[in-house]
Amino acid sequence: MTSAPHKPARYGAFSLLRGGLNRQSHWTPILNEPDAPERHYDVVIIGGGGHGLATAHYLAANHGITRVCVIERGWIGGGNTGRNTTVIRSNYFFPQSAALYDLSLGLYEGLSKALDYNIMFSQRGMWMLAHDRHGMEMLHRSANAMLLNGVDAELHDGAGVRARIPGLNPNPRFPILGGLLQPRGGTARHDAVAWAYARAASRAGVHILQKTAVTGLRQQGGRITAVETSRGTISCDRVVVAVAGHSSEVAAMAGLSLPIQSFALQAFVSEPVKPCLDTVLLSPATGVYLSQSDKGELVIGAGLDLFISYAQRGSLPVMEQAAAGVIELFPQFSRLRFLRQWAGICDVVHDSSPILDESAIAGLHFNCGWGTGGFKAIPAGGWLTAHHVATGRAHPIAQPFGFGRFTSGAMIDEAAASGIAH
Ligand SMILES: Cc1cc2nc3c(=O)[nH]c(=O)nc-3n(C[C@H](O)[C@H](O)[C@H](O)COP(=O)(O)OP(=O)(O)OC[C@H]3O[C@@H](n4cnc5c(N)ncnc54)[C@H](O)[C@@H]3O)c2cc1C
Repeated sequence: MTSAPHKPARYGAFSLLRGGLNRQSHWTPILNEPDAPERHYDVVIIGGGGHGLATAHYLAANHGITRVCVIERGWIGGGNTGRNTTVIRSNYFFPQSAALYDLSLGLYEGLSKALDYNIMFSQRGMWMLAHDRHGMEMLHRSANAMLLNGVDAELHDGAGVRARIPGLNPNPRFPILGGLLQPRGGTARHDAVAWAYARAASRAGVHILQKTAVTGLRQQGGRITAVETSRGTISCDRVVVAVAGHSSEVAAMAGLSLPIQSFALQAFVSEPVKPCLDTVLLSPATGVYLSQSDKGELVIGAGLDLFISYAQRGSLPVMEQAAAGVIELFPQFSRLRFLRQWAGICDVVHDSSPILDESAIAGLHFNCGWGTGGFKAIPAGGWLTAHHVATGRAHPIAQPFGFGRFTSGAMIDEAAASGIAH
């Protein structure tokens, strides 16, 4: 049995006009949510975040595989995809990372059009600041690596940074000696990314089950055969695990132990103010990064809580450090009030790079370990996972990110190379 075709309305000036004339009565549900799941699917995807939904979309769009079910224990995009600070960039050091994250950035550049859904992608540039001589050396090294890897990069001195980012503290405790700009970096609307992929996958016939938890994995003869869920057992040929901060939990259902540790990462938004910051700014010395949302809120991020936890709360010292960092950079923001604070759980791999591979159990794939930086990787993560599931072979860009590196030692240690936290 094939999945029923589902036709959510298209968005555009004409359909909006039509809605205005007929009291908005023509809209159809976005999601293809069956009352009950089918007994068997070709592919079951665990996790209805950006990576799971993108995988579903590219399975259908690139490989014609539509007997697919995405199983989400909460709601679409309610995990880290809906909790992140939406920064998109590809300013990594190693060629393997540059290939992965720049594939993603390139896909983001055409995503609104490709999915007929405005994801509000804003290439406002992403700055990394240097506050001491060693920081400047690091930026030179990063800029050279990025340019050699074919990624856009501009190095500016302190005066150049100030000319491009008005309002920076004229007398900071940590002097601003320079900055590395990736002009193609920026932000996108996180919920829109999840819903755009969900809608595109639904149009192709993919089933999406919300409020359905996967509770077990069944295998026979070293091959995955079914998933157990809160709505019964569903048999399948392949399973993709894309559950961000809970990969170890789901892997344990199959008796696997992943080289992953899980930490809380928190973020904050201020009350909305008029436009005052037109770029994304990361300052390693103050431990903070920020941008301004289209609504006017300052979107502020900090480092991981450095203790292992599944508590989606975040700790007070990180909040204090982030507030101090913002005020150090922009003293005029000191009177702003925090509007919201939240945290998500991030799965961090020892070499700070993701895992994209089929596991030792045939048919059981993992798209995980994105740590604090997987939002920017959603299009590539989905694209590459779909390729592996459909063809049975890892795409050349995904190959370095397989399980094999933990036995060969061919790590891609971006924490050491580009100072990236995850
Ligand atoms: C505060 C914060 C800020 C961040 N900032 C950025 C940023 O600026 N840029 C960037 O690139 N990245 C950022 N990230 C990281 C990014 O958000 C994640 O890497 C990315 O969203 C992961 O996407 P995903 O689809 O893998 O996971 P998720 O969006 O978390 O989706 C996984 C889903 O799996 C579901 N699930 C879990 N277990 C089960 C189960 N047993 N059964 C069924 N469903 C299950 C969850 O409910 C969840 O919805 C940030 C993360 C946080 C927490």
